[in-house]
Amino acid sequence: MQDQFNRNIEYLRISVTDRCNLRCRYCMPAEGIQWMPHESILSFEEILRLIKISTRFGFRRFRITGGEPLVRKGILSFLEQAAQIPGVDDLMLTTNGILLAEHAFDLKRVGVQRVNVSLDTLDPERFRHITRGGDVNRVLQGIFRSLEAGLHPVKINVVVSRSQNYEELPKLTELARNYPLHVRFIELMPIGASDDRSDFVPIAEMQKLLDIQDVKATDDVQGGGPAEYYRPPGFQGTVGFISALSRHFCHTCNRVRLTADGKLRPCLHSSYEVDLRQALRSGVSDTEVADLFAKGVWLKPAEHHMNDREWQDKRLMSQIGG
Ligand code: SAM
Ligand code: SF4
Repeated sequence: MQDQFNRNIEYLRISVTDRCNLRCRYCMPAEGIQWMPHESILSFEEILRLIKISTRFGFRRFRITGGEPLVRKGILSFLEQAAQIPGVDDLMLTTNGILLAEHAFDLKRVGVQRVNVSLDTLDPERFRHITRGGDVNRVLQGIFRSLEAGLHPVKINVVVSRSQNYEELPKLTELARNYPLHVRFIELMPIGASDDRSDFVPIAEMQKLLDIQDVKATDDVQGGGPAEYYRPPGFQGTVGFISALSRHFCHTCNRVRLTADGKLRPCLHSSYEVDLRQALRSGVSDTEVADLFAKGVWLKPAEHHMNDREWQDKRLMSQIGG
């Protein structure tokens, strides 16, 4: 459906949990967070009802995220049901990859088309440091199992931080040279646990480091998101860049988000939310929930204000879904 600024909104990102089996430094504090109480998290039945309602408005693409979606009990059966809803053309998952190796083939079987896997470093020690305890080898196994399972295109999300992994960028691009993987470098956002702006590296600087300025952008990677992709000569995959700050893409934004506690969040970086959970649980008809949903999408803000020094969100990234 169209929003008030004539953008075509057809992509819903759904956070199914705020819980996670990692504690990435830029995403969560070491001690974790106050988890949302179980009763405030939407049940899978409630999420399926919202997916059906959203298809009435032309929503076609759905990404399941978290927290870590693969830690939620019953996730496979939920995905299977979601994939069968008429109008759900594209069902995707964003994961930290820790539990991916054992689930990759099942994900494909139940109807997930593709996965994005977060991986900020190939160095086991550094990975343990950034994620506060994660095992990089499990993530790598998950990535390769996903390729075998045919969850194409498999995209790797790298959040770039000057103090943590900046000098490793050339090595990370080797994944895209040697395998049909799409390695996307993402600007660190000043959200939640990451409000130290000295770690921020703009896309232009990453591209200079990787000597990619003279390569022509390619549009043959399935996605429709904000990433710009490049396929340097001899690469099986591509190298992509996502810049939410230095070149923000608000005017072409096509998505809204659903938080685990049932708030429709039309913009990742605006605190404006519509409480769908309350409507779902008050016994109102689908038509009334649909009206509320449509109102939220219509009021999607024109652009974010993250570049303002004073900007701060009350939610962490793991609570919105990234
Ligand atoms: N746990 C899953 C994962 O890590 O892929 C899904 C949820 S996570 C919140 C979604 C994405 O948000 C991840 O790719 C993560 O790297 C990214 N993210 C978290 N905090 C961020 C920040 N401050 N700036 C940029 N990206 C961030
Ligand atoms: Fe968990 Fe993903 Fe946040 Fe890391 S980025 S703490 S894996 S939700």
